[in-house]
Parts: sequence; structure tokens; C-alpha cells
Amino acid sequence: MTTTTSSHTTATLPALHELQQAYADLQAKGLKLDLTRGKPSAEQLDLAEPLLALPGIGVHADDTGTDARNYGGLDGGLAVRRIFAELLDVPVEQLLAGGNASLTLMHDVVTFAELFGFPESPKPWAREEKVRWICPVPGYDRHFTVCEALGIEMIPVPMTPDGPDADAVAELVASDPTIKGMWVVPTYSNPDGAVISDAVARALVSMPTAAPDFRILWDNAYAVHHLTDDEVTSPDAIALAAEAGHPDRVLLFASTSKITFAGAGVAFLGGSPANIAWYKKHLSVASIGPDKLNHLRHAMFFGSADGVREHMRKHREILAPKFEAVVQILTERLGGYDVASWNEPKGGYFVSLDVAPGTASRVVQLAKEAGIALTPAGATYPYGKDPENKNVRLAPSMPPLDEVRTAMDGVATCVLLAAAEAAHVD
Ligand code: PMP
Repeated sequence: MTTTTSSHTTATLPALHELQQAYADLQAKGLKLDLTRGKPSAEQLDLAEPLLALPGIGVHADDTGTDARNYGGLDGGLAVRRIFAELLDVPVEQLLAGGNASLTLMHDVVTFAELFGFPESPKPWAREEKVRWICPVPGYDRHFTVCEALGIEMIPVPMTPDGPDADAVAELVASDPTIKGMWVVPTYSNPDGAVISDAVARALVSMPTAAPDFRILWDNAYAVHHLTDDEVTSPDAIALAAEAGHPDRVLLFASTSKITFAGAGVAFLGGSPANIAWYKKHLSVASIGPDKLNHLRHAMFFGSADGVREHMRKHREILAPKFEAVVQILTERLGGYDVASWNEPKGGYFVSLDVAPGTASRVVQLAKEAGIALTPAGATYPYGKDPENKNVRLAPSMPPLDEVRTAMDGVATCVLLAAAEAAHVD
């Protein structure tokens, strides 16, 4: 991740009345723009349109000969698992293909742990007096919602450009057996685009934990979602954990939500043989098998791991100019003042914007009243509470490029006005 802070020249902000006028002009435009959620645009979804004609009448067996129309095959289609095993660095026999949402798999894992515990759990988590969880911040709001819905208390730990602050995590987990796990988004994290370093990954998989059943939910949602030629890969956490003597510590998740169709892709779960057996045991109560036709059509569409890589370069052509526009406008409009910092992601779906402390919610409100919808302030923190009220997540994938530009110019006006208002009050 490249982090950009506003330049060292700290020009004085324009006068409050000037910014108020600029904001009134913005409001007068009557905009209706949306930078809230990281959804693929229609143009991106069109890239996968041929999937709709696959597998085609009369085609229902992958190279294993299994009839994909029928019940069974809890592991998922072998052909698609082979392709993603290569991309995700997981042995194919340790990678399951499931339904359309990796979030469901994550929710399943935590729910199964609550109801039954892992094999080495002293008891099901729901019978523990308290279960706590480490949440790197800023982070993905839906991860936090899973914890909150299942009664897990969240402990925020800061993100760094190399991933979660491993020292802070190690210190917490060493002595507190109520801390049962943590979220990690290893590649192009949501929202700040960090890629976990080898050193941080090794530290997390090898640190001693007071809880015998500590798990890292390694959500590799953006494994192949590059925005530059620097197509980074994050460390192979499952192998590193095994090497460190904690083979069951990591469960890996990914999906094609932002590769093919966000609502009709394929989700994957990877882990040690013991974790996979544990998950399948509980899953087998709920399902006789996944949608293997969808697995087959994905395997046919991509053909190989290289097919996925090629496909993602087409996404990049659509997405990269939008991210460049965000960074360019932030730099032009805010770079001269000491009011904001942001990252320049090399992949993923978000730009993380830090505004003047105490003003994030005001920025979001001003933007809303000017017709620009932003992710609610605080969403990137557990319980929706950003202690410094400064982080705003920007999601430029969905609107067309010209709208991204217009929206970002408006956001910059809101950031400046909110900072000037705060300075004025002081
Ligand atoms: N993980 C992260 C980090 C995400 O940003 C998202 C989507 N915004 C998801 C998971 C959701 O993935 P899926 O569609 O596979 O449930």
C-alpha cells in the first residue's frame, strides 16, 4: 500500500464563507451519486456474460465425470476447485467450493464454532461466559456484523501498511483465553488496501495463544483483484501455520463475487485437513451438496488459473481509471492542506480516506445533503464507532468514471467545509 498524506505545505484553509458558497454551488447541482458499497459496475458484470450460456444443454459433467445436475459432491466441483487451488495457494483436497457468498461460509464457521466448538475447543463457544475477537481497524463492516450478531465482543487493533499490528495482537492473545479468533484480509484489505507482509503473516500464525482453539479467518476476498502491473500475492497462511506447528489456525475464504457475478459466483473455503473435515461434518447436516452446475460453468468459462488472471486484467482496465481519478482529485483538492490523508491502493475495491479528526460524520452528512451517498462514518469500526470519527470509506467501482469524478470533487468540498467548520468552532 502506498499511503499518501497531504503535502507538507500546509496552506491555510479557504475562508469558511468561501467554502460555504462552494458547498451551496455543489448542492445546487442536484446530484444523485453513490459511492457507498464495493459493487462491480454493470460493465464489469458484462465481462462474465458468456457464463449465462454455460454449461449449455447436454453438458453436465466435468472432467471427473460426475453429473453436476445431481445431488452430492459436498466438496464442490473439482475443475473449479483446481483452478482456485492454484490461485489461492491451497492444495485442492483442502479447498471446498460452495455457494455464492464467502460471507456465508465465514458466518457458518463462526456459527458452527458457537454451536459445537472446534475439535480442540474445551466447549462450544456459546457455552463460554465470554468470547472475544480481534478486529483490525479500519476493517470490513460485515465481518463486524457477524461478530456482533453472534454475541462476540470485538477488540479493535490497528492496521498498518503491512497488515494488522502483529505485536498488539500477540500481546492480547497470549494471556486472554476468551479471545478465540481474528479477521484478516490479507490482500488489498478493505478499506485501506494493505497487503499483509510475510513477517506479519508468520507472526500471526506462530504466536502463542491462551485459547487452544484460536482461529484466524483469512478472508482473501481480493486475491486476484489487481489495479497495477504489480500483481502481488499474499503469503500462504495455511502452509505457514502448519510449519509453525499450528496447522488448524487458519481458515481461508475467497469468492468470485468480484470476478464474475457478485450475486451468482462461487465461494471457497480452504483449511487444514482437520478444519475441512470439521466443516464438512457440520455442513453435511445442512446440505446434500452445492450448486455444481455453477461450479462447472465457472470452470468452463475460465479454463485455467491463467484464464482468471486474464479476466481480472479486463476488470482492471475498467476499475483502474476510477481509482486514479479518486486519488488525483483528492491530491489536487486536498493535497495542499493539512486536513486529510488517504491510500493509493494497488488493488481491491476501496480507498480509505482519513479526514480531520472529529469530522467524518459531518463529511458524510454534508455529502448526503449534496446528493452524494457515502458509506456511513464509523462503518469501518466495530459497533460503527470510529473513536476519532475520521475514517471515510470510498467505493468508486460502481458509478461510471465521469460520476466518480463529480462525486469526488463534491466529497473534497465537503471535507474542506467540515474541517473549516470544526476550526471555526474551536
Ligand atoms: N470479504 C471482504 C473483505 C469483502 O470486502 C467482501 C465484499 N465487500 C466480502 C468478503 C463479501 O464476499 P462474498 O460476496 O463472497 O460474500
